[in-house]
Amino acid sequence: MRSFPTLLLCLGLCAPAWSQTAPLRGYSADSSRAERDWEAKFRAIPDAANLRADMQRLSARPHHVGSPYDKDNAEWILARLKEWGLDAQIEVFDVLFPTPKERVLEMVEPFRFTARLVEPAVPGDPTSSQRDEQLPTYNAYSIDGDVTAPLVYVNYGIPEDYETLERLGVSVKGAIVIARYGGSWRGIKPKVAAEHGAVGCLIYSDPRDDGYQAGDTFPGGPYRPADGVQRGSVMDMPVYPGDPLTPGIGATKDAKRLPLDQAVTLTKIPVLPISYHDAQPLLAALKGPDAPDRWRGALPLSYHIGPGPAKAHLSVKFNWDIKPLYDVIARIPGDSYPDEWIIRGNHHDAWVNGAEDPVSGTSALLEEARGLATLLRQGWKSKRTILLCFWDGEEPGLLGSTEWAETHVDELTRNAVAYINSDSNGRGYLSMSGSHTLEKFINGVARDIDDPESGVTVWKRLQARGIANQAAGETEARTRPDLRIGALGSGSDYTVFIDHLGVASLNLAFGGEDGGGIYHSIYDDFYWYTHFSDKDFVYGRALAQTAGEAVMRLADAELLPFDFDDFSDTVRRYVNEVRKLASDAREHTVERNRQIDEGVFAATEDPRIKTAPPKKEEVPPFLNFAPLDNGMAALQRAAEVYAQALARVSGNTGSWPAGAALREANARLIAVERALTLKEGLPNRDWFKNQIYAPGFYTGYGVKTLPAVRESIEQKQWQLADREIVRAGQVLASAGAAIESAAAALK
Ligand SMILES: [Zn+2]
Repeated sequence: MRSFPTLLLCLGLCAPAWSQTAPLRGYSADSSRAERDWEAKFRAIPDAANLRADMQRLSARPHHVGSPYDKDNAEWILARLKEWGLDAQIEVFDVLFPTPKERVLEMVEPFRFTARLVEPAVPGDPTSSQRDEQLPTYNAYSIDGDVTAPLVYVNYGIPEDYETLERLGVSVKGAIVIARYGGSWRGIKPKVAAEHGAVGCLIYSDPRDDGYQAGDTFPGGPYRPADGVQRGSVMDMPVYPGDPLTPGIGATKDAKRLPLDQAVTLTKIPVLPISYHDAQPLLAALKGPDAPDRWRGALPLSYHIGPGPAKAHLSVKFNWDIKPLYDVIARIPGDSYPDEWIIRGNHHDAWVNGAEDPVSGTSALLEEARGLATLLRQGWKSKRTILLCFWDGEEPGLLGSTEWAETHVDELTRNAVAYINSDSNGRGYLSMSGSHTLEKFINGVARDIDDPESGVTVWKRLQARGIANQAAGETEARTRPDLRIGALGSGSDYTVFIDHLGVASLNLAFGGEDGGGIYHSIYDDFYWYTHFSDKDFVYGRALAQTAGEAVMRLADAELLPFDFDDFSDTVRRYVNEVRKLASDAREHTVERNRQIDEGVFAATEDPRIKTAPPKKEEVPPFLNFAPLDNGMAALQRAAEVYAQALARVSGNTGSWPAGAALREANARLIAVERALTLKEGLPNRDWFKNQIYAPGFYTGYGVKTLPAVRESIEQKQWQLADREIVRAGQVLASAGAAIESAAAALK
């Protein structure tokens, strides 16, 4: 940074003015001024009226994978991009996409009840009646199956719920489980149920979570009506996402495909999602133990666990077809560094009409494309190549982004600098998650964006919330220069970039202010969005401004604006967390074993309710965290070395690198992110290469940081934990070496 004498006089008070005039990170003073001018022009372009018109067009008919309107939308997007003068094309992939052929759910005991499995049209909501084109309610990648068995209610159906069942003496072996949505990604529910011997799985939306308990239901309000059903994929994505038949390779026309019976990411048992209207009689007919307090939903019944006497018949059969995907990709060639790519993406496919998911994000990306095309005509030149990607097939399993990235793996490994994702967008606060090497960068962008309703910047608003929510005595939200960003698990198209390729990634969205319960139902449509969400599209405009400015600022930087102070600060927290996880596990086991010996469980629990005490467990060994501490020390040292090197070249007496030196520094910066990956991947899931971030094996969307270490501790695999601590330490050390090498290139 250049020094600014006035800064010293009014530190704190003048900070906003200063932050607008200090050179941007990675820019010289001159290039920073030019960049700020272009960014200001860009921010003025996205237009709420266009966002609204684009949403109306793209969500006018159901547009799931393989549907006529999915292709029509892709072609329409392509035509728009070309009309604006961008070089764009459609890339086609062929993927396994099952659609329902038969769906039956009935209760056969103690009385007969047949589930409707239909979402009725709503008068006044024009697209809700497009029955012919709507995909029926189902979970994609459930296997075919026909089972009749007693029902067991398993709450969210996550591993800890099965510990509770075990203590209550309830087994799901041979049963159909009924789980409620929430608590995990949906695909975890049938996976864990099958591991415990269940033969079928129903997933319903409890009104406590997104129905009448949350607020008025659609069409009177935004929440889930009685017959609303959440569709969705149940593919075992924590093993690998993308086409189940082409793991690790692009699903091109001639790709070598697995036979269907070898696709390990299909479920092991049949699964069907249902509404609370259809779930209510099933749950009401359960007897057996009372469900614990925290298991109860908001249906007017006492929640029992079973098994039985309710017995259900579930039959699902699918068309196991190969369907085409249409990814639309626009390319703005880089003027100075054409082989360094900034990639921006949002999916365009939906489960049904998908106004919120994903068109609220797709239309923002379209406005960004229009904005960048406008700047190009006005003389702006992007230093790096920009790829604007409209993915198909996100909903079934991140298909379009995964297959595209697997197809272009060599170019991406060489060239990809960063990937910026968005998906659904709504009203409220900016949510920023991603690679912590970009934490400082995206904080800088957020400081420029005006919140459309509150009159402060989106950054200031986020900071104010942090201050309001922090515990007494905490000061970080007020004093830390950068707001912390979340880590990425899975759940949208960034997954292949960050987890498989080691490309620094960000996910951006506005939300939190207008809730709803129409997710993945026929009611996620233009009528709902324009009545209950960002109805004047001002947050759609803010998303286009935020993501578009981030793309430009990454594309035009002389030196890539990665920062390693925030990164090493964050990784240190992860190291401390896993160390505590191990010591807590040890202390907890010692104490519980002692309580079992003392008869504490038998003495304190209601003698008339039959519960088994937990089983005694082997006390976890002490783990040796020294290798991780050593790796962490190397990473932190490297971060300091880089910060000093950058300060030197950015200061008044320093000289900004140019030409080949700059090129070399950037190449080495790109290599840092790749150094966070290991070719052999995570234990038992080698598609996931990143050793800092991964979706949890038993959470699905929820992130596990330092995943190999954290999950081996959680799963009580102590020898594996010791080995993974060594490997993670090596990864941190090699990331440190890569950072020092980038610092050396600045000399
Ligand atoms: Zn989505």
